[in-house]
Amino acid sequence: MSILSDDQSATKATDQLQWAKRESVLLAPYAMFSSQSAGRKHPEPLHPYRSPFQRDRDRVLHSAAFRRLSGKMQVFTGDMGDYHRTRLTHTHEVATIARTIGRVLRLNEDLIEALALLHDIGHPPFGHSGEEALSECLGDHQSFSHNQFALTLVEELETRYTNYPGLNLSKEILSGQDFRITHQGQTPLLEVQVVDMADSIAYNAHDADDALKLGLLQFEKLRSLVLVERALSSPSANSISDAEFAQRQMLVHHLIDVQVADLLEATVQRWPGLDQYDSFAAQNAGIQFQFSQPMEAERNAFSSFLFNNVYRHPQLVAVRLQASEKIKQLFAFFAQSPNQLPERFLQRAEHFGVPRAICEYIAGMTDRFCDRQYRRLIEQKEPRTEDWQ
Ligand code: MG
Repeated sequence: MSILSDDQSATKATDQLQWAKRESVLLAPYAMFSSQSAGRKHPEPLHPYRSPFQRDRDRVLHSAAFRRLSGKMQVFTGDMGDYHRTRLTHTHEVATIARTIGRVLRLNEDLIEALALLHDIGHPPFGHSGEEALSECLGDHQSFSHNQFALTLVEELETRYTNYPGLNLSKEILSGQDFRITHQGQTPLLEVQVVDMADSIAYNAHDADDALKLGLLQFEKLRSLVLVERALSSPSANSISDAEFAQRQMLVHHLIDVQVADLLEATVQRWPGLDQYDSFAAQNAGIQFQFSQPMEAERNAFSSFLFNNVYRHPQLVAVRLQASEKIKQLFAFFAQSPNQLPERFLQRAEHFGVPRAICEYIAGMTDRFCDRQYRRLIEQKEPRTEDWQ
């Protein structure tokens, strides 16, 4: 099997590649084809049987930052049992929902999956409270953005190749992640939009599920929401068991299902002529996927309900305060003694300033590692352990 270089004529090269043939058969005209990719910062030979976006997906999956997702909380912490979502399981749920939508719309599933696996890898320990604490530490109206940090990780901090830093991902992956930061500029690729929507479908449904399981929320209270009633009244929503566990499973399943179905139907209705566009024309025309208006309203009501009844629950507020305090104390410690930072963050401090380097170091920690560093450096109760890579 010959490996063709990026320099060869794209048509000639892709004609002979399995993945290019496969995409030409399976994808809709408006999908982002691998052969249209703007390539990588450091040109590489094309792979004979893995498409560029498939390789991006694999690179994210094999990264150290991705593995750390299992040690990062989503909303609930490890002290609350073993069955709620971590950032890793959330990421897989997003990827699954996004791929389902992408397959129906005949979009590029490899690109979708790569974007989904990447989307949360920049999260600091302890969920959003970690991010807010770091922003507070930076002060001066600066903020710490997990979406931005995901790019720093894959472009600068991950070490996979000897001749350059980062994972050398395709430009579409980087610009897709970049859109999550700015939410401005050109309409993003349809694949990017699908991942964004799958993210919100996933977390609404599973946060409700986790909150029910932990007893922070009662099933009956949730039933006051139109979206929940809609999910429970869908034709296949007949539970054979009244057990709370079975009811919850069914609810989550149908919450996701009704939202995905609505998105697909609304898309077909709104864009009947979508097949006339290629991916660039779709971007230029500003084509955006949306839920139907009633669904949009129901989803907003559902989100506000979760915000008021779950995210502000005293049990979670207490956990968040504690987490935030730990992060702030660690930040203050390193600000006083920057020499305690690992060597590579000391180097970054020279380029980007001490506060930014400290934020990056803390943001890369898992919840567990952050706890351990707190015990070691602040409480002085723990020996030194290996640092995060
Ligand atoms: Mg997410």
